[in-house]
This record gives sequence, structure tokens and C-alpha cells, in this order.
Amino acid sequence: MTTRTLRALIAIIGTILALPLASMAQPVRPQPPNSVRLYMFDCGQLNIADISVYQLKREEIATNMMSVPCFLIAHPRGNLMWDVGAVPDTAFRPGVVSPTLRAGTSTKTLRSQMAEIGYAPGDITHLAFSHFHWDHVGNANLFAGATWLVRDSERELMFAEPPSPRTEPANFSALKTSRRVAITTPDYDVFGDGTVVVKAAYGHSPGHQVLFVKLAKTGPVVLSGDLYHYPEERTLKRVPATEFNVQQTIDSRAAIESFLAQSKAELWIEHDFTQNAKLKKSPAFYD
Ligand SMILES: [Zn+2]
Repeated sequence: MTTRTLRALIAIIGTILALPLASMAQPVRPQPPNSVRLYMFDCGQLNIADISVYQLKREEIATNMMSVPCFLIAHPRGNLMWDVGAVPDTAFRPGVVSPTLRAGTSTKTLRSQMAEIGYAPGDITHLAFSHFHWDHVGNANLFAGATWLVRDSERELMFAEPPSPRTEPANFSALKTSRRVAITTPDYDVFGDGTVVVKAAYGHSPGHQVLFVKLAKTGPVVLSGDLYHYPEERTLKRVPATEFNVQQTIDSRAAIESFLAQSKAELWIEHDFTQNAKLKKSPAFYD
């Protein structure tokens, strides 16, 4: 047997031996982190043509653009998705750089960004939205297998007939039969250790809520939902004209501001385009 034949034979045997191993390979499951991690995904942006509903003038705001983040909170006991974008992954088509829905565009699917850090939609154990508006529920159907944390007032509105014009029912229709926890208290401690807490902040919608996340190194943060959209709503104390209940929004803002002061948590205004640009995006994370 020549050396060349021997090499070829070894290569063939090697291939045969490797085959069962390759076919047995399982997709790598994400390992639960030792402490809470917060991943922010780029779920697109909104180009708001008419900002007058926010009771702001163009010269009062830095930009009319709004960011649309989606969040994965990986906890040792489970994984929570918080707000899931405007444009659903199903709207993406080969060759379409950025599908559009209403004022929203997106250049990356949520699923691909999750896959980059080893997560599939089926790994998500808990799902919560700040509220039901279209730009926060875009990919809800991906997470129908998770336990949905929602207040009855919000859920009833989501499945009302006729549907609210402020949302896209087709994008969350699969949640109708999802396992759920009906939140009845102002605070809901998702994993029971005080690190991830859904907090009532009614007004923008009947069951609007924000999310407190206690991060060991970063410190505590609060994800705002739409308690504010533009940061100038906070500094200039303006309340959008289209709130479900303006007085509730004023009261919720006061309550959350005092919580921020007391907890020393940093507020991340989800739609704040300027702040969002400075924050780390997945695969980087905050812990
Ligand atoms: Zn919004």
C-alpha cells in the first residue's frame, strides 16, 4: 500500500467515524447565566411624521426619530422577553433590506439576533409587553409557548372586537391560548428574587407597565415602555394628547420618578433615539 493510498484510507475511516458524531450533534442550548443579564436587540426605528400629538414642537426635540428596542432578560431561573418590536420577522423577504409597517422599519430579524447569542424563541419562558400598541408586539407570535405576564385590562383590549386601531392583532393572535399570569398587583416579581419586577404605570394604555431590572455590575435600570417617548416629554413635562388616561399617566410618571430616586435606578426610555444609540446592543449585554 502506498503512502498516498494509506492517507486516503485514513481520511475515509476518519469521515466514517465522524458521521455519527455529526448526526448526534444537538443545537447548543443557552446556559442559564449565574446572574441576571440584559440583552438589547435592535428591533428597528420609527420615523414620526407628526410629533404634535406629543405636545412638542419640532424645535423642542433633538430628533423626531424613535428607537425600537427588544429586550431579553436572562435570569438563572428563566428567560423573559420584554417588548418584541414593530415589524414582525415574517415581513422580512429576501432582497428587502428593511420591511416597513406603519412608521416602522427594521433591518434585522429578532430571531437572527437571538440566534447569534444561542437563543431560540422556544427558550423564552416568560413574555411581557409594556403595552399592546403595534410597535411593542410585532413578534409576539414567536413567543406563544412562553408564559405571558399581562394585566386583564390590557389583554381584554388586545382581543376586543373591533380591534383597537393602535395595534396589529395578527401579530399577537397566537397568544390567545397562551399560558398566562394575570397580574393583579402593581408590582409583579417575575423570578421571585426581586431582580426582575414588572411595575404598573397605567395611563398610556389601561395596563401599561415598566420593567425594573437589578443588574449586579451595571446597577438597577428601569425600561420605560412608553411612559415617555421623547426624552423632552420628561424634561419639559409634556403628556401626549393620545394617552388612554392623561391623569393616570401624570400619576404614573410621578410614582416611577420617585421610585427611580429611591432605588437609584437609571431610566432607559425605550424610544429615546439618542440614548439608545449609546447603549450596548446584543451580542454585548449588561449584567
Ligand atoms: Zn411605542
